[in-house]
Amino acid sequence: MAKGIFIIVEQRDLQIRKVSLELLSQARKVADETGETVVAVVLGQGIEGLAQTVAASGADKVILIDDEKLKEYTTGAYTSVLNKLIRKEEPQAVLMGNTAIGKDLAPRLAHRLGVGLASDCTGMETDAKNFLSFKRPIYAGKAFAYLSSNVRPILATIRPNTFKAEAPDASRQAEIVKETADIDSDDLRAILKEVAIAASKRPDLTEANVIVSGGRGMKGPENYGILEDLADVIGAAVGASRAAVDSGWKEHKFQVGQTGKTVAPTLYIACGISGAIQHLAGMGSSKFIVAINKDPEANIFNVADYGIVGDLFDVVPLLTEEFKKLVN
Ligand code: FAD
Repeated sequence: MAKGIFIIVEQRDLQIRKVSLELLSQARKVADETGETVVAVVLGQGIEGLAQTVAASGADKVILIDDEKLKEYTTGAYTSVLNKLIRKEEPQAVLMGNTAIGKDLAPRLAHRLGVGLASDCTGMETDAKNFLSFKRPIYAGKAFAYLSSNVRPILATIRPNTFKAEAPDASRQAEIVKETADIDSDDLRAILKEVAIAASKRPDLTEANVIVSGGRGMKGPENYGILEDLADVIGAAVGASRAAVDSGWKEHKFQVGQTGKTVAPTLYIACGISGAIQHLAGMGSSKFIVAINKDPEANIFNVADYGIVGDLFDVVPLLTEEFKKLVN
């Protein structure tokens, strides 16, 4: 009989990503309610030191698969290893973050396992009939679908910042199991030669708690400095609308929306962004939205919790000064 909630823990340079800790916390709550166990699955090289971190964050059991071929994420190796592990262990559910890796890995696993996938979910609840049900935005965020399945394992990717990562409990102990990496040679089709990560002192856009985003109203790339000043005072990431990206003012990696990144911060400050449906698709599940726009009829005010009708070139520097007083 299927048993356990598997969390596929994502780590980069031996740093566990926040979304994995959020999933462990939420899985712990579900497990306490249902009597299930939480199993953290960690892949990589030299990962033994991460076992205590995932145990403290809610895991009952930690499966470590340590191999040089798993040092960096590659689609083939990770799919091969996880497919076999999941077939052997037969968990009830397998959850991972809806990150670049999760979006690449989960559909492949779904195919190999012959199950469906609830992707980019923004809610998860226990379900008397099917154990878990998931909520996910559809039609560019205009409606929600509720999904559940009686096929095992249940497979889902969860949007970062959907759940709160609870404070770790260092006294928690977990059973630690080491598995060997069983990788089919047929699956090793790509060889990763180099990982180039642009250095940034700002948080990753998809995991940031606060985002300051600028659109066409910024009028040019030289003006993003005022958003960066504000972002640095409040520890935010900087984002952009597609209009700003298409104009060449910001790189595509900063784009928020249907054809850019999907974000769900606690606070999203939209500056000079009109609120087109394709932009809202990427940030509509932010907990609080603040809009700064000189057009009182702009659509962004229909989704904003707080709206400031004004010229962003006046308002943003004033906000920066006020936040500076609060943080100093
Ligand atoms: P605009 O709509 O031009 O709005 C600029 C706003 O700035 C206006 O509301 C104006 O009042 C305000 N403004 C101007 N000057 C000031 C000032 N000084 N102070 C304050 N406010 C000012 N868009 C995305 O963002 N992300 C996507 O991923 C995306 N994907 C798309 C996919 C498809 C298939 C399509 C068709 C479109 C997509 N778009 C996407 C584009 C989207 O439809 C909009 O064109 C785009 O979001 C508009 O960007 P904007 O709000 O910055 O610009």
